[in-house]
Amino acid sequence: MDKTDFIIVGQGLAGSILALELLKQNKSVLVIDKPEMSQCSRVAAGIYNPIVFKRLTQSWMADKIIPTMFEFFEAAEKLFNTKLIHQTKIARVLGSEQEEILWKKKSINELSDFIDGEIHPSENEYEFLNSHYGFVNQAGFVDVTSFLTRTRNYLEQHNSFLNNTFAYKDVIVSENEIRYKNFTCDKLIFCEGHLATQNPFFKELKFKPAKGEVLTIYCEELKATSIINKDFFILPLPEKHHFKVGATYNWLDFTDNLTDKAKQMLVEKIDSVIPFPYKIIKQQAGVRPSTIDRRPVMGFHAINKNMGVFNGFGTKAVMLAPYFSKHFCNFIFLNQELFLDVDVKRFYA
Ligand SMILES: Cc1cc2nc3c(=O)[nH]c(=O)nc-3n(C[C@H](O)[C@H](O)[C@H](O)COP(=O)(O)OP(=O)(O)OC[C@H]3O[C@@H](n4cnc5c(N)ncnc54)[C@H](O)[C@@H]3O)c2cc1C
Repeated sequence: MDKTDFIIVGQGLAGSILALELLKQNKSVLVIDKPEMSQCSRVAAGIYNPIVFKRLTQSWMADKIIPTMFEFFEAAEKLFNTKLIHQTKIARVLGSEQEEILWKKKSINELSDFIDGEIHPSENEYEFLNSHYGFVNQAGFVDVTSFLTRTRNYLEQHNSFLNNTFAYKDVIVSENEIRYKNFTCDKLIFCEGHLATQNPFFKELKFKPAKGEVLTIYCEELKATSIINKDFFILPLPEKHHFKVGATYNWLDFTDNLTDKAKQMLVEKIDSVIPFPYKIIKQQAGVRPSTIDRRPVMGFHAINKNMGVFNGFGTKAVMLAPYFSKHFCNFIFLNQELFLDVDVKRFYA
């Protein structure tokens, strides 16, 4: 029987970030993952953005979580000896005079740390926008695919990874440990993304999964070096002339299947902004694990105190998961309280 401190189910962004945090705290970890089951993290654009454009407000806890996000991914860059964070401003298209007035007003008070008050005319590499735009400064993207691949390699090198479907029926819970097949652990933490809806131990959790699709395009004439945001995003990728475009939202289809409808929707959006010829290189789909109150969810089972959950990162795992992996560890090891907003107990009431 192999003994480990933690078994984590799922090696998406949530499971990977929690596993690295636990290893940093000198805990032994076994991550069990069958990557084909959910593509969500593998299709993510990885964008971090401190602003909610719809209301032009600060994203929830942005001032606290962004510094921790940098700390986490900079440490991962050192560990894996590779670049993961790409600091890239967001050029937000301002569609009306009212939007410009609001942008300027917010840039001198509540959003002064995040947005640049200057309104830019459409010129040079952004001339094609035919519209004014403002820049979000503390923004960019994380190369999620590289992070996940390197995390998996690292876990494999440390005998901490098992490529297998986790079978809930094989869990045996006793007072001080949990047994799963040939393994025993002190704590079992579920990070299955939207597939948590099939977890028989946490039926009370209320998810509202949202499928999203993205396209990768090749466009030689598009020279933009910032992320463009209108009612969708165009993200310049590190590979020359490649851009990721997205994303769609669908609350009814919980498969990773590609759809013509989403492709058509994204093509129409691209054609409404980009006047240059382009080629579609790739289409990808995944299902975001959003909760009904759009907050992450973490904590332990009401009866089986050694069985936990770390999930619900919705549209923002890159920004949220590093901060909350620390928050969850402080709860586990230092008995610090969980924020009520993220505590699993809110679903038990
Ligand atoms: C189109 C799109 C664009 C996005 N863009 C961004 C973005 O720009 N920025 C951002 O921060 N977020 C973005 N997101 C959201 C982000 O991708 C999610 O918040 C994040 O991926 C959730 O990670 P997770 O680890 O919780 O879930 P997942 O990524 O779904 O990971 C769960 C893992 O568990 C495995 N698993 C599940 N059940 C089992 C089982 N029984 N046995 C074994 N393995 C199992 C799955 O196969 C998977 O590997 C985007 C999402 C989509 C769909």
